[in-house]
Amino acid sequence: MRIIMLGPPGAGKGTQAVKLAERLKVPHISTGDILRRNVAKKTKLGQHAQKYMAAGKLVPDDVVIEMTAKRLKEPDAKRGFILDGFPRNLAQATALDGLAEIDAVVNLFLDPEDLVKRSTGRWVCPNCDAVYHVLTNPPKRRGVCDKCGSAIIQREDDKEEVVRTRIRTYDDQTAPLVAHYKGKGLLRDVYASGHIAEVQHRILEVLRL
Ligand code: ADP
Ligand code: AMP
Repeated sequence: MRIIMLGPPGAGKGTQAVKLAERLKVPHISTGDILRRNVAKKTKLGQHAQKYMAAGKLVPDDVVIEMTAKRLKEPDAKRGFILDGFPRNLAQATALDGLAEIDAVVNLFLDPEDLVKRSTGRWVCPNCDAVYHVLTNPPKRRGVCDKCGSAIIQREDDKEEVVRTRIRTYDDQTAPLVAHYKGKGLLRDVYASGHIAEVQHRILEVLRL
């Protein structure tokens, strides 16, 4: 299946995408993860993207579309994928139309103050991209990734001020995609409050899995 995870920052897209990808045996493709990796490695792409990411703004379309198109052409994405963080505006959605046929768009929605709590409490593994939350989803050993044992870190853009800018960026530029995919009959709304397992159950239900 080819699935898009849509929803504001902190809704739980990445957390749910990983589970869905494992279940469907398809790759989890997160444009945020790919960009952060490029920033860490100081590639040309990373150096270009960094200032937009740090400010909570979208990285320019040409860069992100080219990067995603390349990733979707890799062999493991032939059988399907869970796309997380792309598309983020109508130009990207139009570009994606030319790259792949999408089966469903899971639209996670949550109260804005809950979004802020989720993002400001988030810790991530810079090595394997695992995601934790200091209160709701802590690792077994404090500060250490369960999956690979690396030291986990907080994202630069998870400071409250930047989180609020990212939510505004979502409202202005990404939220119109809800109507776009509803019009195509692909939208599956899922309330993202409650335990991770509960949200997962709702997602499996709307996807009839
Ligand atoms: P997104 O990819 O939409 O930005 P994440 O999947 O990274 O969101 O989740 C944001 C934060 O919220 C993380 O710290 C994650 O551990 C936590 N989280 C995700 N889903 C839930 C949930 N259902 N209940 C509580 N915390 C959650
Ligand atoms: P995320 O990990 O999805 O929260 O993304 C983190 C940041 O990466 C965003 O705030 C953007 O700056 C950038 N980013 C990720 N995906 C995209 C995209 N599809 N288009 C533009 N910028 C993106």
